[in-house]
Amino acid sequence: MSAQIINGRALAAQVYAELDARVGALRACGVTPRVALILVGGNELSKRYVSIKENAATSHGMECIVYHLSDATTQERLIELIGALNRDRLVHGVLVQMPLPEHMDTAEVLDAIEPTKDIDGLHFCNTGKLLNSVPAVVACTPRAIMRILDDVGVRLERAHTVIVGRSMLVGKPIAICLLNRNATVSVCHSHTPNLGDITRTADVLVVAAGSPRLIKADMVKDDAVVIDVGQSTVDGKLCGDVDFPEVSKKASYITKVTGGVGPMTVAMLMTNLVDCAELAMHTTAKEI
Ligand code: NAP
Repeated sequence: MSAQIINGRALAAQVYAELDARVGALRACGVTPRVALILVGGNELSKRYVSIKENAATSHGMECIVYHLSDATTQERLIELIGALNRDRLVHGVLVQMPLPEHMDTAEVLDAIEPTKDIDGLHFCNTGKLLNSVPAVVACTPRAIMRILDDVGVRLERAHTVIVGRSMLVGKPIAICLLNRNATVSVCHSHTPNLGDITRTADVLVVAAGSPRLIKADMVKDDAVVIDVGQSTVDGKLCGDVDFPEVSKKASYITKVTGGVGPMTVAMLMTNLVDCAELAMHTTAKEI
């Protein structure tokens, strides 16, 4: 039997409908969620991602200011700009598009963002809170995956979840999100021997390796839920980490690249922005 394909675009549309109502309520109180997107230099892919995010914000009643800085910008100058945006009460979210030029220290730059405006959820303060099960801004791809699994109706406390990849952007935070929901979690990486022996035990398999078609059908258990995060370009086309035609014959549910995790990631970034704007409004109200 073929897997049911998880429609990330349709689920994202539901998320945007929820957001439209929340943005409407904020605007009625005189608050328009506003994000500052900073791109330093950047290749064509980075520019495309920034434009997708800008479009998502502006099509749902939010404001977006794009700062496109040259490759030659110093880290000091970038951190000065972040500081000014941190202090600007009209800005609710600050996002620095990755990757940064080589002369910059990514951790230092991310650390400069005010945690309550860190809509990417990558500040140490937010990752630390997540680790401690304290409410935090959660990175948008892990948040997207959790929403997808909830929508599918996976009973996480009964599931063995296997994650391929251990990055700070996807692998580690999704592992913590799943642990916080009482799933049993295994995390694999490039040093894991006999990867297939572990992935075959997964009720839920999340693959975020950036290795095109790494996961073949014989590495997947019958009826597993398979979430493909990977986005590599192969022969000019976007390609996932899962061999979709073969794995979709075995899985119960599967995401496709494209139209799976990608649109939900952007929708969750916008959710983080609205969360930050609501928090700022309530904090200001308390101060008054
Ligand atoms: P990353 O920082 O390069 O991390 C990749 C991880 O995968 C690393 O932990 C690496 O192990 C592991 N890995 C690589 N090849 C492997 C292999 N053959 N077997 C087992 N593990 C392997 O990448 P990332 O930022 O997490 O992104 C992963 C992929 O997701 C990329 O294709 C990226 O474009 C995509 N992505 C998509 C979205 C979306 O919205 N759809 C969002 C974010 C990322 P080591 O730690 O040992 O090196």
